[in-house]
Amino acid sequence: QSRRMHHLIQDLMLLSRLESIPQPAEKEVIRMRPLMEMVREEALAAAKGERSITIECDDTIALKGQGGEIRSALSNLAVNAARYTSEGDHIVLRFYQDDNNAVLEVEDSGIGIEPQYIPRLTERFYRVDQSRSLDTGGTGLGLAIVKHVLLRHRAELKIYSQPGRGSTFCCVFPRSLIAPINS
Ligand code: ATP
Ligand code: MG
Repeated sequence: QSRRMHHLIQDLMLLSRLESIPQPAEKEVIRMRPLMEMVREEALAAAKGERSITIECDDTIALKGQGGEIRSALSNLAVNAARYTSEGDHIVLRFYQDDNNAVLEVEDSGIGIEPQYIPRLTERFYRVDQSRSLDTGGTGLGLAIVKHVLLRHRAELKIYSQPGRGSTFCCVFPRSLIAPINS
């Protein structure tokens, strides 16, 4: 219980910090692969049972942003993917450039989400199935944190999901936040 309370307070403090400072003070050039590898370990530790988590990362680009915030957003998405999947399910952490944007996404083959719930997921304390809360131990702040981090990076969260088949959470960053890497 005290571990859960600690986690809740940490999340609430992070959210209020994100809300009180309008923009990240400094932008760093964030190389995504090492960050994705750290988050992969966190998600594996959070999963009950075996998961395969693969990383697909375009190493020719980096993201301009606040590293701690981006890491926190990705971690929330990846830990969700670990929680809302079962033994044997597959998770992919992906970073790539499409026509106009950089996209950081987490795809899972888990339980999925009914379409009517999707618009509410980023509300603080919102959880689809309250009865699962003891089982999965969440408080419903994770996606609110993700949304705020993205707002501060002029990015957008897109959610694609099919019940019983899985979900993909995409963080879509503007082209201006892409930094090329020449080595
Ligand atoms: P925490 O505050 O610890 O993150 P949480 O995971 O319940 O708790 P959110 O991360 O905000 O809260 O997610 C909100 C809800 O969205 C979850 O309770 C779950 O119902 C649903 N959800 C989030 N990610 C997924 C996913 N990958 N697959 C299925 N449902 C998901
Ligand atoms: Mg969560």
